[in-house]
Amino acid sequence: MSRTIVIGGGLAGLAAAVRLAEGGEQVTLIEATRAGGGRARSFVDGASGREYDNGQHLMMGCYRETLAFLRAIGSEDGIYFQRNLQVDMARPGGERIALKCPPLPAPLHLATGLLTMRGVGPLHKAAALRAGLLLAGEVKRPDDNETCDAWLRRLGQTAGIRHVFWEPLIWGVLNDDPLVASAAMLMAVLERAFMSTRDASRLGVPRVPLSRLYVDQALSTLRQRGAELHLGASVRSLTLRDGAVTGVVLRSGEELEADRVITTVPPHAFLDVLPEKWHSHPVFADIGRLQSSPIVNFWVVVDRAPFTDVPFLGLVNSPIHWLFNRSMIEGESGGEALLNCTISAARGAVADSVESLADLFRGEMARFFPSWRGYEIRHFKVIKEKRATISHAAGTYNWRPETVSPIRGLFMAGDWVRTGLPATIESAVQSGHEAAAAAIEARSAS
Ligand SMILES: Cc1cc2nc3c(=O)[nH]c(=O)nc-3n(C[C@H](O)[C@H](O)[C@H](O)COP(=O)(O)OP(=O)(O)OC[C@H]3O[C@@H](n4cnc5c(N)ncnc54)[C@H](O)[C@@H]3O)c2cc1C
Repeated sequence: MSRTIVIGGGLAGLAAAVRLAEGGEQVTLIEATRAGGGRARSFVDGASGREYDNGQHLMMGCYRETLAFLRAIGSEDGIYFQRNLQVDMARPGGERIALKCPPLPAPLHLATGLLTMRGVGPLHKAAALRAGLLLAGEVKRPDDNETCDAWLRRLGQTAGIRHVFWEPLIWGVLNDDPLVASAAMLMAVLERAFMSTRDASRLGVPRVPLSRLYVDQALSTLRQRGAELHLGASVRSLTLRDGAVTGVVLRSGEELEADRVITTVPPHAFLDVLPEKWHSHPVFADIGRLQSSPIVNFWVVVDRAPFTDVPFLGLVNSPIHWLFNRSMIEGESGGEALLNCTISAARGAVADSVESLADLFRGEMARFFPSWRGYEIRHFKVIKEKRATISHAAGTYNWRPETVSPIRGLFMAGDWVRTGLPATIESAVQSGHEAAAAAIEARSAS
C-alpha cells in the first residue's frame, strides 16, 4: 500500500497530513514532541496553573489556506475576527492614535482609514496616501534586494507615518527590523491584505489557547481518518536510494518505509536529517545561510487591566511592540487581568534576565499609562522563542527551497520554504497544502 510520511507536527505538518488523509492517502505523521504544535502551541504553566500560548498569534482575513485548514478540522469558531480593520496605538503619555477602516471596498477602506486617522497630522497622512497611490499605480516594485527602509524612503514616507503605521506593520508581519527586512516580502503582505478585498485586512485573534485551536482538533481528525501518529518520536535521517527517498530512520533506530516523504521541520532540523552528500546540492546549499529572528513574550497577571476599550494596543516607539488584554479577548470581565506583551525581532531582549524584562515592563507601563498607578503584578512569565521565524533580510528569498525537491519523492514544507510569503501561520499552512498536492500528484503519476 502506498504511504506518505510527514515529518513534523507543527502547522505545516498538520495541514499536510490532514490534506493527504482527506485525499485518501495512507499517512504517517512523525513529531518529535509528545504534544505537537511546534512554534504555535500552548501549555499549562505550573506556577500559575494558566494555559499560555508560546506567543500571541494574530491572523488576517487574507489567511485563506489557514481558514480552509480550520474548517477542515472543525475549528473555525475559535478565532475572533474584527468586522473591519482597526488598529489602535498609544504614544508615551497615553495619547491614542486609531486607524479605523470603514466598510468600503479595498483599497478605499484603507485610504479612508488613513485619511481619518486620529492623532496623525495631515502631512503624514498625505505621505501614506501617496504610497497607496503609487502601489495602485504599479510604480517600480521593490525587488528582494531592497530593504523596507530604503523603499519607504523612496516613497517619501515621513517619520510620523512610519512610527504609527509602517514600522509596527513591518515588525509585526516580517518579524524583522525595517533596516534589514526585504521590501518585496512586505509587498507580498500588502497585496494580499490591502489590495484584494476589505475582509482580507481584518485581524483575527484566537479566543482559545493555540493547541486547543489547531493541534488537538487536527490530531483527532487524523486519528478518525486512520492516520498513523508517532508523537514523541524524532527522525534521525532520511533514507535514500538511487536519488529517491525510501523512508526515514528514527532516533530510536526504527526504520519506517514510505513512497513519499514531506518534511516540514525548520531549516537547521532539515539539514540534520538530510544525508551529508546532498548538502552541497544547489537547492540545499543556501539553507544553512538562513538566519533566525527571535520573539519574546511576557504573560502578566495584574490586579486590573490598564485598558479595556480595545482588545489590543500597539505602543509607539517602545521596545514592547504590542499589548493584548487576553482576559477581554477570552470574554472575562472585571477583577485581575491577563496581559500578553510581544517584542518582535527581539535580538536586544532575548538574552535579558526575567528581572530586567520585568523592570522594562514596569517602566513602559508607567510611561504609556500614567494614570495606572499602584497596580500589582501577580505573576510574570517570560517566553523566549530564539528561532521564532527565519529572518527576512533583503536578498535572502531565493535561499528558500521550493516544494518539489531534487530528491524524488521528497517534498519540502514549513513556513520558511518558498511560498511567496513571510514565515507566518499562513505560509506554514499553504506550504503544507502545496506539498500534499504535489505528493498526491506524484502518486497519480507513478
Ligand atoms: C512567539 C511567536 C509568535 C508568532 N506570531 C505569529 C503571528 O502573530 N502570526 C503569524 O502568522 N505567525 C506567527 N508566528 C509564526 C508561526 O508560529 C510559524 O510560522 C508557524 O507556527 C510555523 O509552523 P511550521 O509547521 O512551519 O514549523 P514548526 O512549528 O517549527 O513545526 C516543526 C515541527 O517539527 C518538529 N520537528 C523538528 N525536528 C524534528 C525531527 N527531527 N523529527 C520529528 N519532528 C521534528 C518540531 O517539534 C515541530 O513541532 C509566530 C511564531 C512565534 C514563535
